[in-house]
Amino acid sequence: MKYEPIIGLEIHGELLTKSKMFCGCSADYASAPEPNTNICPTCTGLPGAMPVVNKKATELAALVGLALNCSINKHNTFARKNYYYPDLPKGYQISQYELPICEKGWMDISPSPLTPLPKGEGDSGSLLPPGEGLGMRVRVRRVHIEEDTAKLSHEKNYALVDFNRAGVPLLEIVSEPDMRSVEAALDYATKVRAILRYLGVNSGDMEKGVLRFEANISVRPVGSDEFRTRTEIKNLNSFRALVRASQYEIERQIKIYEEGGTVVQETLGWDDVRGVTTSQRSKEEAHDYRYFPEPDLPPLQLSDAWIESIRSQLPELPEAKTARFISDFGLTPSEARFLTSERTLANYFESVVANSKSPAKTIHSWIAGEFMRYLNDSGLSIDDVTLAPETLAKLIDMVTDKTIGASAGKTVLTELFKNGGDPAQIVKEKNLLQMTDVDAIQEIVTKILNDNPKEVDEYNAGKETLFQWFMGQVARATKGKADPNVAKELMVKGLAGRKK
Ligand code: ADP
Ligand code: MG
Ligand code: ZN
Repeated sequence: MKYEPIIGLEIHGELLTKSKMFCGCSADYASAPEPNTNICPTCTGLPGAMPVVNKKATELAALVGLALNCSINKHNTFARKNYYYPDLPKGYQISQYELPICEKGWMDISPSPLTPLPKGEGDSGSLLPPGEGLGMRVRVRRVHIEEDTAKLSHEKNYALVDFNRAGVPLLEIVSEPDMRSVEAALDYATKVRAILRYLGVNSGDMEKGVLRFEANISVRPVGSDEFRTRTEIKNLNSFRALVRASQYEIERQIKIYEEGGTVVQETLGWDDVRGVTTSQRSKEEAHDYRYFPEPDLPPLQLSDAWIESIRSQLPELPEAKTARFISDFGLTPSEARFLTSERTLANYFESVVANSKSPAKTIHSWIAGEFMRYLNDSGLSIDDVTLAPETLAKLIDMVTDKTIGASAGKTVLTELFKNGGDPAQIVKEKNLLQMTDVDAIQEIVTKILNDNPKEVDEYNAGKETLFQWFMGQVARATKGKADPNVAKELMVKGLAGRKK
């Protein structure tokens, strides 16, 4: 029998506010000098301490909801989610339950087939069939505000608790079970992360744990419309983990059904080293948490004017930017998607375009090519780049107007990245001006042909691969400065003229 997966994602992201969700402690817990120094009676749950809602966190949550096409609940409430764990000082988490701040949104995705992941130990390495193709809509059930927990480190015979992170604002984005492939889940997760970064509400740094995924997964026979029992995989800290864990879990469930068994609803962990999901606990139901309205916080009342003022802060989002890059700059969808993957990269590209006479396509090629290669090789991100877009524009224009050749352009770019400076000055100092003088190039071509009669004969006898060798001789004689089109044309003519 053929099965299809059903996936719903819960995404937890810390909000980039100055202070914690319900107290004045810093939300930048990573900068705290020592464990348990960034704390107060409220975030350590001392009796009698009173929470106060962080206004900025509310604004950021609404901003995310609006970007995900949600409606904002003008009347929303906080609730206590009761459970005991050493990282939860109060014995309950303040969250939102019946009335979250945002509900009923959606996000359009366009999953593309996965490229195989490197095969790890215990990793089945297999791939699922490609997703449904272009244009699917994933419904966003809700976006709500809650607070992060403390951090536990488990040592051999004991565990340590650091409350510096306790109470940091956390956003939970819950999708409907609308994804039908791992590719779809990956595309959705990637797009949500991009939006959070565009909005500046979360850095998307998954290694730092500020963004984590939970995948809810079930499988059913293709063609059926039932929803079967699901499992939930907690705390996936990378896209790779999301993909591998989902693939593993889908196969595990299919195998259970094939063998006539039933899937048990439970919460799973992902063991990245062994490449397996492991049972953590049987799934708790909402009633296990004894949710009730938080008595220390009044409902949050939001006005239409407030909601509209948040809406007016929405920047151009990745999808709209991609469409504009395609229509304004004549880029292909994949070129545009690459440039809009990061807001800073898109801004950089637009600044270069604004300062340059070269076609936008050419500028895309430079940025997607040499520029990115340099960043990757040196482990930098676009945010680290100090090279001014105006300077890059100048350099690209010098190649476009043939002042220098493409390979000289790469040399100048490397120099600019390393030591800065002015492109024209570097070209002068390194003597990189392109040779465009036809007579001068002709002289060099003629000399090469005269000096290498054997190769000329072999070429003319049919060994066409030698052409590249001849061009290599030109590059050597001119230190790569000859206009390649002129050199090529003269070489073709010269060789033909010596045909016996
Ligand atoms: P809970 O409130 O107990 O966490 P929900 O039913 O609200 O459970 O769903 C939590 C997540 O599980 C949502 O992201 C939802 O899309 C997903 N989900 C629900 N049912 C299924 C299913 N049958 N298969 C896969 N995912 C599901
Ligand atoms: Mg859940
Ligand atoms: Zn505090």
